[in-house]
Amino acid sequence: MPLIPNHLICLDALDEALREAAAQSRPLGICLLWLDSVYRIDALFGYRAGDTVCAQSLTHLKSILKEADQVFRVGRSEIACLLPTLSNETQAVLAAHKIIRTLGSQLTLDQYSVHSEPYVGVALFPAHGQGADTLLQRASSALREARIRKEPVFIYSNEADTATQLQLQLQTDLRHALDENVLTLNHQPQTDLRTGRVVGVEALSRWHSPLRGAVSPAIFIPAAEAAGLMHRLTVRVLNMALRELQELQPAAQDLSISINLSAHDLIQAELPALLTQALSTWGVPPEQVVMEITETAIMDDQRARATTLERLKEIGVQLAIDDFGTGYSSLARLKYLPVDELKIDVSFIRHMLHDIRDENIVRSIIDLAHHLKLRVVAEGVEDDATLQRLIDMGCDVAQGYFLSPPLPLEQCRSWLIKSGLDYR
Ligand code: C2E
Ligand code: MG
Ligand code: MG
Repeated sequence: MPLIPNHLICLDALDEALREAAAQSRPLGICLLWLDSVYRIDALFGYRAGDTVCAQSLTHLKSILKEADQVFRVGRSEIACLLPTLSNETQAVLAAHKIIRTLGSQLTLDQYSVHSEPYVGVALFPAHGQGADTLLQRASSALREARIRKEPVFIYSNEADTATQLQLQLQTDLRHALDENVLTLNHQPQTDLRTGRVVGVEALSRWHSPLRGAVSPAIFIPAAEAAGLMHRLTVRVLNMALRELQELQPAAQDLSISINLSAHDLIQAELPALLTQALSTWGVPPEQVVMEITETAIMDDQRARATTLERLKEIGVQLAIDDFGTGYSSLARLKYLPVDELKIDVSFIRHMLHDIRDENIVRSIIDLAHHLKLRVVAEGVEDDATLQRLIDMGCDVAQGYFLSPPLPLEQCRSWLIKSGLDYR
């Protein structure tokens, strides 16, 4: 039983087993197992200890699987089990659950029990493919899905595989878009409801791909996070936003700019330094910048996030909680967070004239914000009646299609001039 990664030997054995299964018209199952404990033990106690746990797993597997089944260590933490004697496909799934039960509870290292949460991806011949390469790839795709969904066993699914490939293609295209610097910003004006004056703009990223057309940030922001591109995107947006604010704003004006941050940005220790640098490069006073963080990201109880927020605050920028009302705010935490603004989520504003519950939620958020001495912004204002109701309720600032959609720089400049902002 080899302990070195030997996927080639595994593929040869699979080839052979597939020939026999095809000749006898029998199904064949592949369970690809990922041992989280090996990965952790490698890091904590070294590779020899990781190998010990893996060898033990192989022994356990041999003892619970059938004589004709074969096991191969195909990666540092991955084991492939070939199950050639199935009478039906359900048996492969039962075997996968048996593997999880056994390896989840029986591993030890120096007499200590090793906590393990293994995952198994299952692919079946002939249902999911004919050749050894294809089947192992499908088992691997199923395993990836199992780990993403946090389900111990996942059976290969064509849709999941296609979705994964589409997502990877999107991430590749986005990487090129960042390399080629083709992302742009739109700016959506924000109006003070007491004076009727425009007081700020929100910078919103736009990606027009030659192949895909306009891709919504709701699609490409999560893709950037998944591909590890968020940091690059944020640094780009930060610099673009501050430069464009200077282009929008004559010296006499004190228009603010709101910039969105993702949850991922808050765990980047260098973010405050990058912000300081960008403010000095573009000559923007920190108090004119509002960093928006969604409620879900801000409430995540991670020390790193709270520290980043405090450091951003020390720089002198303002902080806003975006999409307020859609996450799970703890009022106890809200009291201590160094924020200046709550942005009421569009989902409450949209129906507030027709649904008394939404109206009450909006009223309560405005009261809450004012009692905490925070500014409150309504986003997604689409008609005059909603705007008037928000004015009656004492809301401070509004943003939405009724006032203006997000606009490219030049159009936003013209809009500001027309709107009567003292703009020269
Ligand atoms: P958000 O920050 O809450 O931005 C407001 C969204 O509401 C924008 O969607 C805007 O176009 C849309 N909106 C504006 N007025 C109205 C209205 O009257 N009705 C309705 N229904 N919607 C309105 P968009 O531009 O598609 O952005 C979606 C989300 O993507 C943003 O939500 C933000 O969370 C994220 N996002 C956009 N750009 C960036 C960025 O540069 N960085 C990060 N981290 N996130 C971004
Ligand atoms: Mg926002
Ligand atoms: Mg929002």
